[in-house]
Amino acid sequence: MPTVHAVAPDLLAKLQNRSPLLWLNAALGNALPEGPPGAADIDEADARLERCAGLMAHLFPELQSSAGLIESPLMRVERLQQVMGNATEPDAAWFIKSDHALPIAGSVKARGGFHEILAFAEKLALEYSVLAHDGDRRALAGAAARELFAQYTVSVGSTGNLGMSIGVMAAALGFRSVVHMSTEAKSWKKDRLRNCGVQVVEHTGDYAQAVAAGRAQSLADPKGYFVDDENSLMLFLGYAVAARRLASQLAALNRPVDATHPLFVYIPCGVGGAPGGITFGLKALFFEHVHCFFAEPVASPCMLVQLAAGESGPTSVYDIGLDNRTEADGLAVGQASHLVSSLMRSQLSGVFTVTDAQLYVHLHRVAQTEGVLLEPSAAAGFDGPGWLTRSDQGQAYLRQHGLERHMASATHIVWTTGGSLVPREEHEQFQARGQVLAAQDELA
Ligand SMILES: *Cc1c(COP(=O)(O)O)cnc(C)c1O
Repeated sequence: MPTVHAVAPDLLAKLQNRSPLLWLNAALGNALPEGPPGAADIDEADARLERCAGLMAHLFPELQSSAGLIESPLMRVERLQQVMGNATEPDAAWFIKSDHALPIAGSVKARGGFHEILAFAEKLALEYSVLAHDGDRRALAGAAARELFAQYTVSVGSTGNLGMSIGVMAAALGFRSVVHMSTEAKSWKKDRLRNCGVQVVEHTGDYAQAVAAGRAQSLADPKGYFVDDENSLMLFLGYAVAARRLASQLAALNRPVDATHPLFVYIPCGVGGAPGGITFGLKALFFEHVHCFFAEPVASPCMLVQLAAGESGPTSVYDIGLDNRTEADGLAVGQASHLVSSLMRSQLSGVFTVTDAQLYVHLHRVAQTEGVLLEPSAAAGFDGPGWLTRSDQGQAYLRQHGLERHMASATHIVWTTGGSLVPREEHEQFQARGQVLAAQDELA
């Protein structure tokens, strides 16, 4: 095992122990890194999703009610806040950003994945003149475009949800669509993909190996397009658009975000693209008034390890003796995206870790109090407010940023990232397990 000099010994010991912890990012700065990517790139992604809305509503009738936009509700969760929150903060408000309910793909991956496939389809169609620059994007569903797309293979390596998003979108536009998964991926996800006309290729080994195999196959094909979860700017920018939509939702609810009304956002992190893109978008809008924290499983704290190790190069959780085995399959990633970690170095406030048992306790509490059903990965963020307000490190963060006296007017948003497509029997198992663990938790 290589030594990881750059991770402080006490932090390393805690990580190796799998003790849940809050790590604060000492490199947090106020300035956005100089682009690209920058705000103009987010504008472009936003505009793309806007001009493709008619196409989306045409391809997916369930989007008719949102006029083709893929968006989720921002939901106030007062009952959950009563159970889990801090009673001394009367006007603080907890919300969940309900990306578990995003249409079609049922997870946050709809944001990045659909954006990347739409960008690729537009680019091809413009190149082969089946679309005019300012033409109606519904032409991408026309006969000429479909004939063109059918010659191309879009592929991706995925633990499940990214495959669902890329696979379904690519197939809907008429691309050959291939998803590389590890054999351990949930069988209902494989079945669902196959039912949508997606070819599922199974690989032994972990997520990184499925990605590597998929990338190699795709690069050997001149008409192959590989969606690279570890390095994709197009995914990242699709996620970043979420920040603008959230800003409008907050404005509509009269929740200001400024020096006396801090915004805290807690987002589950796998390879980093989704939480990183969302954070990037939020920092571009709210600067130092938004405080973004990632949540990672104790077995897979890949972003924490990479940021804590500093610039010394990529570091995986295997390098510090962790096994990357967690039931949070959307977060089971050993090595964080380098593209994302380098952007997060100055933007991310910190990372906290969570045990699998705690994920089940949370998903049970959320179901009991709010009637919301989540998959384990999507429940990783719920310890966020507690870490901030009730731990020594959290309180140190609040002091350092002069936030203590504004916590009563804070907004806490827990990003719930997936679950609405999970079959009912699976949810019943999650809930049964959560009920047992929650009962133990209350006795402890
Ligand atoms: C993919 C995923 C995440 C994290 O996104 P990354 O881009 O991998 O960091 C979080 N929750 C769920 C449910 C996911 O599927």
